[in-house]
Amino acid sequence: MPRKTASTKRAARAPSATGLRPDTRQRDRVRKIIAVLRRVYPNAHCELNFSNPLELLIATILSAQCTDKRVNLVTAELFRKYRTAADYANAPLAELEQAIKSTGFYRNKARSIQACCRALVEKHGGEVPRTMEELTALEGVGRKTANVVLGNAFGLNEGIVVDTHVARLARRLGLTRHTEAAKIEQDLMALVPRAQWTMFSHWLIWHGRRRCYARKPDCPHCELAPLCPSAGKV
Ligand code: SF4
Repeated sequence: MPRKTASTKRAARAPSATGLRPDTRQRDRVRKIIAVLRRVYPNAHCELNFSNPLELLIATILSAQCTDKRVNLVTAELFRKYRTAADYANAPLAELEQAIKSTGFYRNKARSIQACCRALVEKHGGEVPRTMEELTALEGVGRKTANVVLGNAFGLNEGIVVDTHVARLARRLGLTRHTEAAKIEQDLMALVPRAQWTMFSHWLIWHGRRRCYARKPDCPHCELAPLCPSAGKV
């Protein structure tokens, strides 16, 4: 192994050829990525339909392993029938299972919804809490679901939603090397200005659905290609 001399140590600490530290260059690149995505997707938003925090919480639980389109079809009827946390908590389990069956994994989802809504009734007066800690303490609610609710129902930027699209695009764009959602989220939180956390995941999700597909991404037409280290290599 080569010995580290004073000059190699100095070189390791020195700014790059551009005169910027690598993290500064990364942040600068992220600012440019955000500017492009904001221009390309000015109307990006959460594609789950909801009219209050409880509806978004239920829709997000249902969205696991299911498309937003399918969830919206199911919730159109579900939200008419069940309006409060107590309605879900007191519903016969078999009835709730039937109502959400087509979203898949319906037994687990129905159990999670009921347990979650019982806790809302017993500990939070039937309301959806506004903190990460309280939300993730609810049955079936992980950090991703909590981020969706905090960011979109309450307008609070507590974290960044990392779903399959965000994970894939963050890696392709060279913003993380991790594959684990929690670590990807930490990398993104260090790079993206906090005020943009909620929108950043919408932009990546929209781009993942419309351009940077899991298979055969459309690099030749991609607006981010000049900023993407994976352009033409996936
Ligand atoms: S250039 Fe290709 S890999 Fe990079 S973001 Fe665009 S579609 Fe995805």
